[in-house]
Amino acid sequence: MDFKALTAHAKENGFIYQSSEIYDGLAAAYDYGPNGVLLKNNLKEYWWRSMVQLHDNIVGIDAAIFMHPKTWKASGHVDAFNDPLIDNKDSQKRYRADVLVEEYIDKVEGKLNKEIAKAQKRFGEAFDEAEYRRTNANVLRYQGQMDDAAKKLATAMTDGDMEALRQLIEDLDISEPDTGSKNWTEVRQFNLMFSTQLGNIAGEEGKLYLRPETAQGIFVNFTNVRNTTRQKLPFGIAQIGKAFRNEIVARQFIFRMREFEQMEMQFFIAPGTQQEWYERWKETRLKWHLALHPREKLRFHDHDNLAHYADAAVDIQFEFPFGFKELEGIHSRTDFDLTAHQELSGKKLQYFDPEREESYVPYVVETSIGADRLFLATLTHALREEQVPGQDDPKNTRTVLALHPAIAPIKAAIMPLKRNHDELVSLAKSIFNDLRFHFEVQYDDTGSIGKLYRRQDAVGTPFCITVDFDSLEDNTVTVRDRDTLEQVRVRVEDLVGMIGPRVDMGSLLRSAQ
Ligand code: ATP
Repeated sequence: MDFKALTAHAKENGFIYQSSEIYDGLAAAYDYGPNGVLLKNNLKEYWWRSMVQLHDNIVGIDAAIFMHPKTWKASGHVDAFNDPLIDNKDSQKRYRADVLVEEYIDKVEGKLNKEIAKAQKRFGEAFDEAEYRRTNANVLRYQGQMDDAAKKLATAMTDGDMEALRQLIEDLDISEPDTGSKNWTEVRQFNLMFSTQLGNIAGEEGKLYLRPETAQGIFVNFTNVRNTTRQKLPFGIAQIGKAFRNEIVARQFIFRMREFEQMEMQFFIAPGTQQEWYERWKETRLKWHLALHPREKLRFHDHDNLAHYADAAVDIQFEFPFGFKELEGIHSRTDFDLTAHQELSGKKLQYFDPEREESYVPYVVETSIGADRLFLATLTHALREEQVPGQDDPKNTRTVLALHPAIAPIKAAIMPLKRNHDELVSLAKSIFNDLRFHFEVQYDDTGSIGKLYRRQDAVGTPFCITVDFDSLEDNTVTVRDRDTLEQVRVRVEDLVGMIGPRVDMGSLLRSAQ
């Protein structure tokens, strides 16, 4: 499904609304509707339980959004949390200079892939892609252009050399996507942190920041958590919470917002073991994604330019409607953060290792994923326009949100065959009132059964329970499966036992192991 249709579906079905829509909206801020909040909570629960509940050595916290301003000095955000900003003088539109270069690289990659697809078609079975990549002149030229641009971009970003970045945009002949204009300004560094003012202190002294990442709330609590739990290294601290970034460009729905939610885990380890833990967390996190999404939608992407705090970093990218983009980051952060906080606060942030018989500042491997990007990835994969299963006519289609039952907002919908029939309604409502104690259910009698089924398909409800006249005789109901459309008769007293295990988070958590 294309991106426009996806955003429309998300709005029409109560998943996501534009923030402050009655005032024409606020750019890059979104609200989650009744189905959206249920789905998002389920995704967060999947993350939280897989981290905290299933690891003896990971504990959770929930730190304040406001932190002492020195936090952001120590972490490097005041001095270095910048994006390179460039304006187009003709269109007056603002861009991220590095993203313009990345989009150029994506474009060339598109041409390269087209070349390969063409050759594949031409040679059929006999096609040797690796050989073709090694020898075809066009492919080699495209690859060279991509590598060259990526290398120059990485160098300019690592050095903070905005002039080199500006020159690169000129050399690559990059024009404004909408108007084709090449009339660019200089490139400037733009700090992404939002600031606000503490009520009772004037000026710089009272300047506070809205946290741009949740990680620092974990670092500054390292000693508190150590002292109040029995955790020994290696151990992790997990947190889910809001983060704020004054993004220069935010035009891709909930992919890039100025207020968003992160799910981060910092894993504290002995120095020298970071490579091993980095690899282990890469593997663990990929498995976690694979329980929700197919392998071909996911890929690892090593960072070309490392952030100031990292000695290794990789993204797990997902194929969004606008291409493969970062969904999660896994970073080996060394002892950068704890050392910096130790220096600026004057408080020891060390660990005494009984085996090594020495104290040291732990190293950290972090996994960091945006809850909203995960939500978007999930919608992208699950939302389908498909031929109705079991029907021959290709014109007979339906829109279905094929979510894993454990994350579906509503697990079952209960509907009476006729809404004006007291006995049917009464039995349906009594089933609803019983099931709601076990999982999220919905009662609906506001349309024909066919219409109600379609409504539930659109929001991903895995089961529809219909109460009909036979139900009044034998206390059985029809349970319709969202994916196969198979219908089975089930005794009312067996509903919890049948549906419960299939919508339970346990099955999803187990498949990620
Ligand atoms: P990008 O390169 O896309 O700006 P980033 O590398 O700055 O992302 P991190 O700082 O590694 O992102 O943040 C960790 C995760 O937080 C990202 O993988 C992403 O899922 C999420 N995230 C970051 N910025 C945003 C945003 N503006 N809106 C929504 N999610 C975000």
